[in-house]
Amino acid sequence: MTKIKMTTPLVEMDGDEMTRVLWKMIKDELLEPFVDLKTEYYDLGLVHRNETDDQVTIDSAEATKKYGVAVKCATITPNAARMPEYNLKEMWKSPNGTIRAILDGTVFRAPIIVKGIEPYVKTWKKPITIARHAYGDVYKATEMKVPAAGKAELVYTAEDGTETRELIHDFKGAGILQGMHNLNQSIESFARSCFNYALDTKQDLWFATKDTISKKYDHTFKDIFQDIYDAEYAEKFEKEGITYFYTLIDDAVARVIRSEGGYIWACKNYDGDVMSDMVATAFGSLSMMTSVLVSPQGYYEYEAAHGTVQRHYYKYLKGEKTSTNPIATIFAWSGALRKRGEMDQLPDLMNFADKLEEACIKTIENGDMTGDLALISTAEEKRVCTSEEFIQAIRTTLEGLLA
Ligand code: NAP
Ligand code: MG
Repeated sequence: MTKIKMTTPLVEMDGDEMTRVLWKMIKDELLEPFVDLKTEYYDLGLVHRNETDDQVTIDSAEATKKYGVAVKCATITPNAARMPEYNLKEMWKSPNGTIRAILDGTVFRAPIIVKGIEPYVKTWKKPITIARHAYGDVYKATEMKVPAAGKAELVYTAEDGTETRELIHDFKGAGILQGMHNLNQSIESFARSCFNYALDTKQDLWFATKDTISKKYDHTFKDIFQDIYDAEYAEKFEKEGITYFYTLIDDAVARVIRSEGGYIWACKNYDGDVMSDMVATAFGSLSMMTSVLVSPQGYYEYEAAHGTVQRHYYKYLKGEKTSTNPIATIFAWSGALRKRGEMDQLPDLMNFADKLEEACIKTIENGDMTGDLALISTAEEKRVCTSEEFIQAIRTTLEGLLA
């Protein structure tokens, strides 16, 4: 069989622990036998981040701007326990945070649906993709405990020194205060990423805030989305037959539960944090979630939504077999290869990405799966595979599909 050709490299960001082990198996068994893989490799494993003072993370994000598409393995975000474990010079920041800041992107997460792993919400038939704004609000807030009676105000001092004040509250006793902000530019990037991704995936876009209560803060989100939609996207949406729909957040929640799925739900930072955990759990499993960072300029970085599966890695290091689910990591690769194929007009590469995903789904539906899926699957015949056996089973299915 001749291997499928690529013309532009993918930015490959390797990672840590069990997902790094899976990464290599996926390349060896599911990619390199079929594709003449072209990648520019960046080792974002913690050892190499530490060696390069985290420069490698920045370089990989810059490379993503250059080539347009990246695929990333899960990485450790260091905490106190990792300092001695990896003999770190510093508690390096989350690579995902660094990359997101450089690409100014929005993260889109969607469940991978297979028969036998049914959503808890009976009406859901298609994936619900959550787009979470990743800047500001309560995540960059300043807070204060008010000890006793006194007046609290919001004060904005312009560069020329003029002050604008708003009374927050005239406290009669102890209480609490919070000041938060967002930036028009960040909201605009968020909006463009969402509109682009909706066009890209041909899905409706929903957006919701609490603008009836928050008449300036949340209302600004609503207005920015509407202005950008009218000026730049309305025609394109009409042409694709998709819609942009704005509603109040509480109305959105009710509609989501009653819906069939099959749309993108854009959420402010806090709503997205909470709702993405709810949607992921209701669809079945974090190991069956895809995640892609999309920049307003149209750069894409694909990854799995879960972490490095540390507990399994320690078992692996002791020589024990693990049954770690590689699906989300495989879908990160297929997503990136499909996007590369689209950008470079390589139908064979796009077709390979489709077949690879189909092979994953078929393999699970045939009863071969990892332990985490066996726990929640309603399939009658289930065979719990080790990571290696499962990847081998996918390879067999894939070879059948490509033959
Ligand atoms: P995790 O790696 O997602 O794993 C948490 C637990 O979920 C695992 O112990 C396992 O449960 C289950 N699980 C997750 N993915 C699985 C898979 N593919 N197959 C089977 N089971 C799976 O989260 P964590 O343990 O909190 O974090 C570990 C490291 O990952 C941390 O250093 C964190 O910084 C990093 N992290 C990275 C990213 C990223 O790069 N995107 C995201 C989150 C966390 P059982 O042990 O019960 O089998
Ligand atoms: Mg959360």
